Amino acid sequence: MFYFRVVTKKTVPAIEGFFTMDPERPRLLGSRCKRCGNHAFPAEKVFCKNPSCDGDEFETVELSARGKLWSFSHNGYQPPPPYVSPTKEYEPFAIAAVELEAEKMVVLGMVPKPYDHTSLEVGMEMELVLDTLFETEEERVVVWKWRPAQAAV
Ligand SMILES: [Zn+2]
Repeated sequence: MFYFRVVTKKTVPAIEGFFTMDPERPRLLGSRCKRCGNHAFPAEKVFCKNPSCDGDEFETVELSARGKLWSFSHNGYQPPPPYVSPTKEYEPFAIAAVELEAEKMVVLGMVPKPYDHTSLEVGMEMELVLDTLFETEEERVVVWKWRPAQAAV
C-alpha cells in the first residue's frame, strides 16, 4: 500500500508590492515621477528624488528585468536580522548591484545558487529571477535575485 502526502506550500513575496509574482516573467515594481519621468526603486510615494523636480505624483511601473553588473560582493557572514538563513547552517552568497538596462539606476539583489562571486564579472549581462528566500512549514517566501543572463530569448 502506498502512502504519500502532497505538500502544497503557498508562495508569498518577501515584501509585498516590490515585485510581480509571475515566475516566468518577474518584474520589479518601481515608480515614475509624472512630472520629470525619474524612476525610483523602491517605488517613491512622497517626493521625487530628482533635486530639480518638485513632483509629488507617481505611477507604478515595471522596471527592466535585465541590466549590466555594476558591482558585486560576497556575503561571507550571515547578515543581521531581518535576514533569515534558508538553511540551518549559514551559506555565503553573492550580492549583485545591477544597472537597469532602460532606467540606468542600480538595484541590489542576492545572487541565486549555484552562482556565487566567482561566477560574476563586472559589466556582464544579468537578469531578474524569483527565488526562495526561506521556507516555513506552510509558505515558500520568495524574493527577486540577479543571475547571469541566460541565452537570449
Ligand atoms: Zn520628478
